[in-house]
Amino acid sequence: MEDSVAEDMHRFEQSFKNITQRYRLINRIGEGTFSTVYKAEDLLYDQYENDWNLEEKENSWFSPQSKQRTCRRKPRFVAIKKIYVTSSPMRIFNELDLLHDLRNSPNVCPLITAFRCHDQVIAVLPYFQHRDFRDYFRDMTVSEMRSYFFSLFTAVQAVHEKKIIHRDIKPTNFLYSPTQRRGVLVDFGLAEREGTDWHACNCSYDEKERRHRYQTSHYASMKQQFREAGQAPPPPTYPKEDTRHSRRANRAGTRGFRAPEVLLKCTAQTVQIDVWSCGVILLTLLSRRFPFFHSADDIDAYIELCTIFGRRRMMEAAILHGQVLQTNIPTISESGHSWEKILLWCTNRNKKDGAGLTEEELEAVEFMKCCLELDPLRRITAEEALRHPFILGREG
Ligand code: ADP
Ligand code: MG
Repeated sequence: MEDSVAEDMHRFEQSFKNITQRYRLINRIGEGTFSTVYKAEDLLYDQYENDWNLEEKENSWFSPQSKQRTCRRKPRFVAIKKIYVTSSPMRIFNELDLLHDLRNSPNVCPLITAFRCHDQVIAVLPYFQHRDFRDYFRDMTVSEMRSYFFSLFTAVQAVHEKKIIHRDIKPTNFLYSPTQRRGVLVDFGLAEREGTDWHACNCSYDEKERRHRYQTSHYASMKQQFREAGQAPPPPTYPKEDTRHSRRANRAGTRGFRAPEVLLKCTAQTVQIDVWSCGVILLTLLSRRFPFFHSADDIDAYIELCTIFGRRRMMEAAILHGQVLQTNIPTISESGHSWEKILLWCTNRNKKDGAGLTEEELEAVEFMKCCLELDPLRRITAEEALRHPFILGREG
């Protein structure tokens, strides 16, 4: 273990009164924007439940056979999530409150308990043995993808049933064990109840910055393209004295996983934004590219979608949210590109050489298209996803 990690763990043990009486910190396993997560041993664990093989034992809390709903056996290993003290009390309460509501939901990592010491709050969750997404996304078979999405959509359906939007579905927040073919959803730090966009008031979008970025980045890159082609570029079409009110909406989430309605700052976002993010994970697995989208900001992210879906479909989608799309970016074509073409290109296969997507891959693409439907009202719901032939076709 690195010295700095050991030091950090030591500091945490010193600052959090009595924590060492209950938990023995083992390692630091996550460090994010809002928290640090440690693996720890629960010293009050019931020693009699010990004769399992390691992985089964570690994940026994999550096993459907363990009857966790009736006998809440304490797990030996826990994940201690130290929420940064800079997070607002409201935000911390929100995460714990939602986790409490979801305590009996399948494939959602349950909250065991939480403690506070001065301004420091920690959430204690059962430790879930999993593998890093980066280790397996390149070689996951379609059959394994079916199991992955069965687990993921089981969790998402349970969350959505309670009218909760997770808002940050991505590989690091879905802990998956390929050997067990099981995963659990974690990190409700950005989650919210549908219809309560209380983040929106904290989430101001700087209009000046938007204009500046537009004019410097996209216009500049466009100018470059025209210069190379020996042509004069048209002037920027973004209105200089735009008197329209800027829109405010919750944009919380992770770059590359945001649904089009989030990018368009639709104020009535629904649970369907999570289904889009699941679709992006499937796209990552099928394309073997992680991350698939590389946008620096929301405008770039939107342009990436325009490039794939084409101007016509993106214009139709914008109208659904009361927005108008105007673009003269040369790389955005009228009808975009087919998923098959994109996936073959990403995986270095060429249709001309007789290579195409396999039957199984085509089935996965059909499912992915349902998740990556631009119109949230027509996008497949998590409940429908669980009944889709792609998921029903899984083994075991
Ligand atoms: P953050 O808000 O900082 O992203 P997360 O809840 O996503 O916090 O946790 C960060 C990381 O810690 C996860 O990506 C995962 O690697 C690890 N982690 C979180 N909870 C658990 C758990 N129950 N079991 C095992 N590892 C976990
Ligand atoms: Mg996270």
